[in-house]
Amino acid sequence: MTVRIGQGFDAHRLVAGRELWLGGVRVPHERGLEGHSDGDVLLHAVTSALLGALGEGDLGTWFPSGDERWRGAASAALLAPVLERMRARSLAVGNLDATVIAQEPRLGPFREAMAESVAQRLGVPRERVNVKVTSTDRLGAIGRGEGIAAEAVVLLVSATDPTPG
Ligand SMILES: [Zn+2]
Repeated sequence: MTVRIGQGFDAHRLVAGRELWLGGVRVPHERGLEGHSDGDVLLHAVTSALLGALGEGDLGTWFPSGDERWRGAASAALLAPVLERMRARSLAVGNLDATVIAQEPRLGPFREAMAESVAQRLGVPRERVNVKVTSTDRLGAIGRGEGIAAEAVVLLVSATDPTPG
């Protein structure tokens, strides 16, 4: 059985005049994440983890920030070609674990929706995805509410093997 592990990290600044999107879920907040796409740090960390597991570089090489194609793009659009590459290599998501690190807004009420949304975008059953939320106990830039970060770890397995969960 082939297994490949990958991890991803991303952080964006919170700014006025933007919608807040996390894991493909619109979270009501007076500020949103800056970025050349919709700034969805969770989907970016997930996509980055997938690239890591595939051994295929990083988000910056796949989606250069100067590239107009990705301006304002939903982050799901960035995920799609990476999933395509994964499937072309006969790999599937065994499970994925992610953490969103934010002081504000409080994300607990959106945890389940984010996990469901990420699972749906990955095309896997809900039980293969876990999303955790945490704050930094007011420490550092994130603790001051300047931005939001996310981490993800993904395990890829052979698409032909029975997958866990
Ligand atoms: Zn990002």
